[in-house]
Amino acid sequence: MPKFIDLTDEVFGRLTVLNRKDTFSGGKMRTAWDCLCDCGETTNVLSENLKSGRTKSCGCLASEETAARNTANAKHGLWRTPEHQSWSNMRNRCLSPSNPDYHNYGGRGIKVCDPWLNDFPAFLRDMGPKPPMHTLERKESNGNYEPGNCIWATPKQQANNTRRNRKVTVGNRTQNMSQWAEEVGIDVGVIWHRLSTGWSAYDAVMTPAKSQRTA
Ligand SMILES: [Zn+2]
Repeated sequence: MPKFIDLTDEVFGRLTVLNRKDTFSGGKMRTAWDCLCDCGETTNVLSENLKSGRTKSCGCLASEETAARNTANAKHGLWRTPEHQSWSNMRNRCLSPSNPDYHNYGGRGIKVCDPWLNDFPAFLRDMGPKPPMHTLERKESNGNYEPGNCIWATPKQQANNTRRNRKVTVGNRTQNMSQWAEEVGIDVGVIWHRLSTGWSAYDAVMTPAKSQRTA
């Protein structure tokens, strides 16, 4: 029979032993102790769990560790989301002259609006979650990255957008295809179709359409 060791007043982690109070566990009476936890709870702990270091609190320590781990994971997870990747890429295009696409963005004056600049959660609140296979697109290619001008676009929308924003020169003026369409009152799809079938830019823009502006 092992020599009895009085643990009264000893401290194990957050626990201070108050008094012996054996407990029925695993089919037999075993040596155990009522302990006071730093958090104010009392708890009964088997001698072997105190001495082995397995139990160091009433349970509050493990809860706190789990909570801390979950918080860390949540934070870490946020940084790895597709939305964060989009936000980060947007900032790089507009703010980092070393970015290979900078000349098409920051280099020609495209800005990230103030609320989104250093606040990813604000960006996420405004844009919402990114659907799979979508990308961050600006509706107006000369416009800034801001709530009214940004959407999560499908590859098709993206292609349409690129098309609408394609530069067309007529005479001595160059503007987006969508701006020409607006100006002359022809559907942008008609202008696109004409250009893609070999019409000159002048004819594509200046020839009236047979049926004007399909709704
Ligand atoms: Zn506790």
